[in-house]
Amino acid sequence: MVNLLQDKVALITGASSGIGEASALSLAAEGAYVAVVARRGDRLQDLIRRIHERGGRALPIVADVADEQQVVAMVTHVKNKLGRIDILVNNAGVMLLGQIDGANTEDWRRMVAINVMGLMYTTHAVLPIMKEQNHGHIVNISSVAGRVARAGSGVYNVTKWGVVAFSEALRQESYKNNIRVTVIEPGAVATELTDHITDENAKKQQGEWLQGLTPLESEDIAAAIVYAVTQPERVNVNEILIRPTGQD
Ligand code: NDP
Repeated sequence: MVNLLQDKVALITGASSGIGEASALSLAAEGAYVAVVARRGDRLQDLIRRIHERGGRALPIVADVADEQQVVAMVTHVKNKLGRIDILVNNAGVMLLGQIDGANTEDWRRMVAINVMGLMYTTHAVLPIMKEQNHGHIVNISSVAGRVARAGSGVYNVTKWGVVAFSEALRQESYKNNIRVTVIEPGAVATELTDHITDENAKKQQGEWLQGLTPLESEDIAAAIVYAVTQPERVNVNEILIRPTGQD
C-alpha cells in the first residue's frame, strides 16, 4: 500500500479526543509523523501508544493553545525535533452554548481564546516555517455554526464564522508560497464537545437535539481531512461542509 503522507510532518491541535484524535490516527496511518497537542497529557500518551502499535510515528506535546508563549514553544519544539511542518490541523476548540442574555461571559472569553486566538497564534507561529519550505497545508476546523447562526449559539457562531473569514484571508495571502488552506465545517459529530457546556439549560437542549439524529463519527471528519491533504499539489480544497444526513 502506498503511504500518501510518507515523510510529511503534521501538527494537530486538540488531539486528545474526538476529531483531533481520529485525525491523528488517520494521518499517521497514511505515513505522516504526527505531532499531537492538547492539555491532557495522559490522553495523548494513550494516543501515542495506539499510533505506535499500528506502526505509526507520533510526538506528544502538552500545551494550551490559548497561551501564545506555549504555542510558540510547541511549534519550535516540532521544528527542532522533526525538521519541518507540512500540515497544520487547527482543531482545538470548545462549544460553550447558551443564550446571549444572562450568559456567563467567562464562557465567551474561553471560546474566543481557544477557537479564535489559539487557531490564529498557531497559524502565526507555523507560517514562517511553511514559507521557508515554500510548501504547506493549513486545515482549519470551523463548523456548520460558521455558516448558519442559531439562537443559543451566538458566540460559538462568532468564533466559527471568524475561522471561515480568517481562512479565506489566509488563503489569499499564502497561495503564492504554495501554502494551501482548507476550512472544514462539520455538523453534529459524536464527541465529548457537548460535555463541556456549562449552561445546564443549553446542555439539555443540545442533548435533546442530538437525540433526534444520527451524528457523524470523528472518523468521518478525519476522512475529509485526509482527502484534502492528499490531493495533488495543484489542488487546493478550500472548503468542506459536512452534515449528518438527518441534520436540518
Ligand atoms: P472534543 O471536546 O472531543 O475535542 C476538543 C479538543 O480540543 C480536545 O482534544 C481538547 O483537549 C482540545 N482543547 C480544548 N481546549 C484546548 C486548549 N486550550 N489548548 C489545547 N487543546 C485544547 O470535541 P471535538 O472533537 O468535537 O472538537 C474538535 C473541533 O471540532 C472543535 O474546534 C469543534 O468546535 C469542532 N466541531 C465539532 C463539532 C461536533 O459536533 N463535535 C461540529 C463542528 C465543529 P484538552 O482538553 O486535553 O486540552
